[in-house]
Order: sequence, then C-alpha cells, then structure tokens
Amino acid sequence: MMKVKVAEHSGFCFGVKRAIQIALKTAQQNKKVATLGPIIHSPQMVSHLREKGIDFIEDIDDITDETIIIRSHGITSYDYEKLLNKKVNVVDATCPFVKNAQEYAKKLTIEGFQLVVLGEENHPEVAALLSYVDDSAIVVENPDSNFDLPKGKKIGLIAQTTQIEDKFEKLSVKLIRECKELYIVNTICHATLLRQESTKALAHNVDIMIVIGGKNSANTARLAEISKSENCRTYYIETSEELKDEWFKNIDTVGITAGASTPEWIINGAKKRILDM
Ligand code: SF4
Repeated sequence: MMKVKVAEHSGFCFGVKRAIQIALKTAQQNKKVATLGPIIHSPQMVSHLREKGIDFIEDIDDITDETIIIRSHGITSYDYEKLLNKKVNVVDATCPFVKNAQEYAKKLTIEGFQLVVLGEENHPEVAALLSYVDDSAIVVENPDSNFDLPKGKKIGLIAQTTQIEDKFEKLSVKLIRECKELYIVNTICHATLLRQESTKALAHNVDIMIVIGGKNSANTARLAEISKSENCRTYYIETSEELKDEWFKNIDTVGITAGASTPEWIINGAKKRILDM
C-alpha cells in the first residue's frame, strides 16, 4: 500500500497564524474590516476570511471607513504615510521577523553600509524593506548573477525572510571576495528554514513530492525548488483537485510539504485524496 508522509514542518508559520488571529479578533471588535491586499497567498483562506466579514482592498484610495489590517509581510513606508494621512484605523499584523529585517535595513544604511538584500525585487516584503532605506539597497535575486557594488563602500547584507540559506551563504562568500568590510545579518526566518530542511529530508526519502501552496506564494515555490534539487519528482499544486491519478502509478511513498501560507485543511484534504486514489 502506498505510504503518504507529511513533512515534519509544513503549513502555517507563526507570522501567518498571528496575522489571521489578529484579523479575526479585529473583525469581532469592528464593523467593517479589510486587509490591505490578500492576507496570505491562499485564495481559499481569503474566501474563508470573507465569510467571517474580512474583505480585502487592493488600493488605499478605495478605503472608505474600514479598519485596515496590515498583512504579515508588511507594507511600504509610502503606504503607511498614505494611511496616516487618510486617518485610517490601522491594525498592524506585520510579522515581527519581517519588522526585524526592516530594522536592520535601516540601521545598516544609517551606519553608512551599502545595503545588499538577497531577495525578489518585486515581492511586497522586499518592496517594503526597500522603502525604509529610500530604495538605496541593491537587490540580488541570484548570487551567480552580475551586479555592481559601489567602490570602497562597506557592505551590509541581509535577506528576504523566505530566502534559501545556501543562496545566502553563496552571496556572503561572493561579497567577502569583493569588498573590504562586510556586515552580515541572517534575517532568514526560522520557520522558513524548518520548512526547507524538512522538505529536503523528506524529498530524499520518497518517490514523489507534492508541494502545496498558493501559486503566488514565494516560500512554497522555494520548497518546490528544493524538492526538485534533491532529484525528486515534484508536483506543485494549490488544492487537492489538481492531483492526477497517473502521478501515483508504481509509487510506494509520497511526500507532502506545504508553504507557510497553506491552511491545514488543504494539506489534510490532499493527503486524504492521495490515500483514496
Ligand atoms: S515565514 Fe517567517 S517571517 Fe514570514 S510571516 Fe512566517 S514567521 Fe514571519
């Protein structure tokens, strides 16, 4: 009989659980509540929250009298200012680890370091981070790519919280060779690391891996990347409806992992469906 193993660490992280709890509590205390952008990259969770009276608004200009919840990966300083000017009632659910990276970005920049951020330039977390240093940071997505460093400047290195440790290490080594002074702060979040490590360990021991998460979820995409790099056949799905019978032909063991924004009921639903196949 086919065995299905779920990664030891998978699904909601501390920051996401916290943001959802804050949103639900706020909805109990206020009439009109909305998040600025979807609370997490999970359309299923977004509709679940909508049922609880928590909508989402994409554009600050569309806010009327709603209490606005800031999601776990934070917002830019420009958006904060806009909300303040509009006198919006704001509940900040930014993850403390994301805030910590923002604090280091500011500290290093104030102290004269050229900030380098390992991350995806267009990800909201990175966009927010950059706004706190007046967009003066250099964003590096791939340590193997070419990028220019200002001559003679000391370098401060941090990472988007969901980055891969190996990439961070690679970039650190590259920078050490190219500058005289380097200050490294590992801002990769522990939850991300745990999910990445348990995905790696599981992918090593199963025939195929099913990675579950929203298609826009950066941290889930990274789990799929890690699983593939272990030479494990990997399928990236959002819900159990996408599972296909043929994937499981002649397979003894299936591994399941899920990003930090994947609700538990979706993980359990996928496990059940695989076992029923
Ligand atoms: S992955 Fe880490 S940094 Fe991001 S929200 Fe979760 S706990 Fe916070």
